[in-house]
Amino acid sequence: MHSCLTRGDYARIYEWFDCATPLPFDCGTLCGKQCCTEWDEGVGMYLYPGEDAMFTGDEDWLVYERHRTSDYEFCPEWNGELTFIVCKPPCPREHRPVECRTFPLTPHLTAEGQLEFQLDEDGLHLCPLVQAQDMSLLKEEFVFGVQRAWEILLTDPLIRADVNWRSRLRDVAAHEPWKKLLKRKDV
Ligand code: SF4
Ligand code: SF4
Repeated sequence: MHSCLTRGDYARIYEWFDCATPLPFDCGTLCGKQCCTEWDEGVGMYLYPGEDAMFTGDEDWLVYERHRTSDYEFCPEWNGELTFIVCKPPCPREHRPVECRTFPLTPHLTAEGQLEFQLDEDGLHLCPLVQAQDMSLLKEEFVFGVQRAWEILLTDPLIRADVNWRSRLRDVAAHEPWKKLLKRKDV
């Protein structure tokens, strides 16, 4: 899929996270680096549109797959092929993709189009930071980096459409009974 983001845009985003980590210490010590394990068979991640430019395709720590959007569930605006990667940890940290740099935060667009952030509930079963449900635990520098990164990523209309689509699905899911259990845990 075509992206208006350049290799330079992604390089800038990558650079911000060379040092910025979610906590003042290595959060992998809390959980045995759960998000870097094969916590489910064949688990991997998609590169964002345009992010392929950061990879040569020959990295020996990655297995590449090309996925057609019509074979999976994507936002309606996404048509074509995407790169899906499965990593073989440990990765060369300076080359890890955006998805790994900004986790455990995920962007959310309000119905009015305002950018907010949430702890990524897709990581609820594996990440103690998501389970804690407390964004104030995260380093300010990290949260700021995530915000700057997403301000750039959202300039791509395809990425914005995807985040908006996910946000609307999240709004609907917010009324599911298990969400009330999660909130009760906060009290
Ligand atoms: S699962 Fe969460 S706490 Fe563990 S390494 Fe990943 S981001 Fe850090
Ligand atoms: S690419 Fe690196 S940071 Fe991302 S999941 Fe794999 S080992 Fe972890």
